[in-house]
Amino acid sequence: MAQNQYDLIIAGAGPAGCTLALNLSGRGLRIAVIEKDVFPRHKICGDALSGKVLNVLKRMPGGVYADFLRDAGKVASWGIRFTAPNGHGLDVPFVQERAPGTPPPGYVCRREDFDNFLFQRLKLCSDIDIFEGEKVTGLAFTPDAALVETGIRALTGKIVAGADGVHSVIRKMTIGDPPDKRHFCVGIRAYYKNVTGLHPDNFIELIFLKELLPGYFWIFPSTGGLVNAGFGMMHEQVVKLGENLNQVLNRLVSSHPLIAPRFRNAEISGRAEAHSLPLASFHPKRSGDRFLLLGDAAFMVDPFSGEGIGNAMGTGEIAASVLENCFRINDFSAGELLKFEAGIGRRFSQEFRTTSVMQRLAGSPFLFNLVVDKARKNKNLRDLLTSMFTNEDMKEKLTRPGFYAGLLFK
Ligand SMILES: Cc1cc2nc3c(=O)[nH]c(=O)nc-3n(C[C@H](O)[C@H](O)[C@H](O)COP(=O)(O)OP(=O)(O)OC[C@H]3O[C@@H](n4cnc5c(N)ncnc54)[C@H](O)[C@@H]3O)c2cc1C
Repeated sequence: MAQNQYDLIIAGAGPAGCTLALNLSGRGLRIAVIEKDVFPRHKICGDALSGKVLNVLKRMPGGVYADFLRDAGKVASWGIRFTAPNGHGLDVPFVQERAPGTPPPGYVCRREDFDNFLFQRLKLCSDIDIFEGEKVTGLAFTPDAALVETGIRALTGKIVAGADGVHSVIRKMTIGDPPDKRHFCVGIRAYYKNVTGLHPDNFIELIFLKELLPGYFWIFPSTGGLVNAGFGMMHEQVVKLGENLNQVLNRLVSSHPLIAPRFRNAEISGRAEAHSLPLASFHPKRSGDRFLLLGDAAFMVDPFSGEGIGNAMGTGEIAASVLENCFRINDFSAGELLKFEAGIGRRFSQEFRTTSVMQRLAGSPFLFNLVVDKARKNKNLRDLLTSMFTNEDMKEKLTRPGFYAGLLFK
């Protein structure tokens, strides 16, 4: 095969693109990964890795999970601390009982470390050619191929996967961008040292401030004694703000009564940076003749929590299993690739329906205060919330009006 001809071309080497490549490596395919940045690369994120990420790593071939446990710089996290708009806090551990020696259910790992960990695995695969520091700039299709251009070269593939993030060029050149910003949220984060009041088991903290609802302020304990702190809010709320995001962050950290006392001696490390999150409340077409869209390019961010890494990796995993069959039968048609959309539907649609409703309910400070106040007094309810955050079927209960009506009389 000539050097510029591939079976699969992947645009973007974030969690989605790396997961797809690593799951297909060793299957007799020639894979190209084109990545505009040079690793280790910087990525604006809260850096929280949920159990979903760990489950994808566990299923990945080649002992990736074991290497992650051993190698990547990270902080183990054992639960979530919620703070309701009335200031009352609630700790929800990820597991009800901790057996000695069990690996933690979640981590906080800086993206320059986590993404680099995955990216370095690509380099170990002799069937993957990496074009690092090259940007996809053009895409065209013939009946038999996808033609991908970077500023430096042109590559031909049987199919192209767009794993190139929220501003995906592959999405732009296939299905186009969404008509409006309703399904985007914006997040800003910075690293700080000397933040006080962290949970001894590194619980990640979601602080639901009235002015940010349905978004929240987060404090995630990170490596090197730092915390990753920031907030997310809907794009349309940001447009109405009289301040820019940096000003809001500084104001919250310096004067909000629920936050400022914790940051009294804090020092920022680096600078605050903001980026968009494409929410899964929007359902774009995610495939067509000879292309697939993964991760942020395919609007896979949880509308309630803002979690996107595990979902992006999930799309990579689903794409790998669908593409394995496409290569076997040599069919890359839109019809065959509907199996990818169906796979996403099976794994995520119930969850996204639930979290879209939770996002709408989260707009109500009353409901937040109610759930947190009742759970603080009632161990059974606290245990129920723990299972809700680790079990999708239980999470669905949080979307039922009867759940809140029941709480009023508890
Ligand atoms: C402020 C903020 C906080 C967040 N916090 C969390 C969190 O704590 N936990 C969580 O799970 N999720 C979080 N997310 C969401 C998460 O960051 C994303 O959902 C996740 O990174 C999606 O992975 P991806 O592989 O689809 O895209 P990305 O990680 O964005 O990777 C895309 C890759 O494509 C490359 N690329 C882009 N354009 C091109 C091009 N033209 N050619 C070649 N390469 C290209 C980019 O350089 C990048 O490496 C947060 C997001 C934001 C903005």
